[in-house]
Amino acid sequence: MENCVFCGIASGKIKADIVRETGNFIVIRDINPVSPVHLLIISRKHFKNILDARKDKDFDPCDFFDLVGSLARDYSLEDKGFRTVINTGYDGGQTVGHFHVHFMAGRGFGWPPG
Ligand code: 5GP
Ligand code: ZN
Repeated sequence: MENCVFCGIASGKIKADIVRETGNFIVIRDINPVSPVHLLIISRKHFKNILDARKDKDFDPCDFFDLVGSLARDYSLEDKGFRTVINTGYDGGQTVGHFHVHFMAGRGFGWPPG
């Protein structure tokens, strides 16, 4: 989609620090990290949010779970833990309207979130 920063990154038009690429996702480092590890798992296809993604017949959540598992292994986080966050819409604090998941680690996270 035009004027979408994550579509630009997924297509290679906008530069990003790419950590991993799969058929359905691209993983980049967040430009404004809030933890020592702060990755963004971005769908290659433009979905406005998780609600749009789940309507797509080709969107396979298993790919996503596999990817999270392999990132946890790569960063040796299986015991220590990590946090995944999907902000959705205004109240959810979503600022980029292209489906993405935050993958954060390297410090403890509080609950409830702010
Ligand atoms: P949201 O608030 O939508 O859940 O998260 C958007 C995230 O994307 C933010 O953490 C923000 O720092 C990150 N971000 C926004 N623009 C860019 C960019 O151009 N490059 C990268 N690497 N991250 C970005
Ligand atoms: Zn997009």
